[in-house]
Amino acid sequence: GAERTKNVLILMSDTGGGHRASAEAIRDAFQLEYGDEYRIFVKDVWKEYTGWPLNDMEGQYKFMVKHVQLWNVAFHSTSPRWIHSAYLAAIAAFYAKEVEAGLMEYKPDIIISVHPLMQHIPLWVLKWQGLQKKVIFVTVITDLNTCHRTWFHPSVNRLYCPSEEVAKRALLDGLDESQISVFGLPIRPSFCRAVLSKDDLRIELEMDPHLPAVLLMGGGEGMGPVKKTAKALGESLFDKELEKPIGQLVIICGRNESLATTLKSLEWKIPVKIRGFEKQMEKWMGACDCIITKAGPGTIAEALIRGLPIILNDYIPGQEKGNVPYVVDNGAGVFTRSPKETARIVAEWFSTKTDELKRMSENALKLAQPNAVFDIVKDIHELACQRGPLANIPYMLTSSFSSLIY
Ligand code: UDP
Repeated sequence: GAERTKNVLILMSDTGGGHRASAEAIRDAFQLEYGDEYRIFVKDVWKEYTGWPLNDMEGQYKFMVKHVQLWNVAFHSTSPRWIHSAYLAAIAAFYAKEVEAGLMEYKPDIIISVHPLMQHIPLWVLKWQGLQKKVIFVTVITDLNTCHRTWFHPSVNRLYCPSEEVAKRALLDGLDESQISVFGLPIRPSFCRAVLSKDDLRIELEMDPHLPAVLLMGGGEGMGPVKKTAKALGESLFDKELEKPIGQLVIICGRNESLATTLKSLEWKIPVKIRGFEKQMEKWMGACDCIITKAGPGTIAEALIRGLPIILNDYIPGQEKGNVPYVVDNGAGVFTRSPKETARIVAEWFSTKTDELKRMSENALKLAQPNAVFDIVKDIHELACQRGPLANIPYMLTSSFSSLIY
């Protein structure tokens, strides 16, 4: 018989740029692979349906990453399962009704979480509703290496890990091997499928057609030592004897508007492009020859797909720390916190050490997993098919559980 369109609810939060990018990657891959078979909702359920602190994760995250030591403590002190379980249970009890209403509004057949704090409460809600066996719940981890334990929940139908390292941690945390798949980090299909020529991109983006180019960024929020690094590059990429540039610089400041304004007020001896939040990162990356960034998983995975050698100049303590050895030990880049050192390395890559740049680019391409997002949606599709034609799921809007606890 004719199959009903299935509803897919993707739970994310706008903390940084990474979770939204992963969520949109999954949505786009579903649409490319299966068209109308699935209706996709990307939602920040916390923001829409709950009160503080859950509706202000974005604000809290920004505050925390600006005060990194605080974030470091928060990250590590909430690692033991009993602490975060108790914390989340308290929040869940308080917001159960709202979150439940939020989830139920979309009548999901499949729920996909791309956020470390979105397993426990939604899974509880499903349990209270008696829907655990009917609704497919999967988690897609978006940290490459060291990730917080709240990502791991034993009741998920599938846990998609970006690396073997993360899969190992999940096994240690009690998940079963049959629940775990390792495909890589989901990256927007525009990155994976596009065949873009560097020459064409440089014309389109109005860059110098010949000079090698370095891309400097700091995640969705434009974090890390971007300003100092930009200034140092402005010097190191200018050949004082010949009085001409040996490279060009693209700086993407994300949502950090004051950074963009400051950078635009400076004088430059080399060609520089300064941009705010860019929607077509695949183009900027495709037009450049290497990248400098904090150790954000999204940016790293995208750069690998484009074969860009990476200079990591910062990381958010906790979840991003492990991304550093992932890049460095695999020969796809280097780590340094010093803007001067960074500027020196790029100048060398563009002059005397072009072979090193080339070798690292090849290593980056070897690490890249451009098909991960398609592997993930195909696997979810198979899970859905195994359930057979999904019956209309009996969602109730009043929760028996909430009435139990109130
Ligand atoms: N990004 C973007 N436009 C920008 C800056 C960043 O689309 O102007 C994207 C970037 O391509 C990546 C994500 O935002 O997909 C950043 O994710 P990452 O995990 O690197 O860091 P986060 O911002 O989450 O800390």
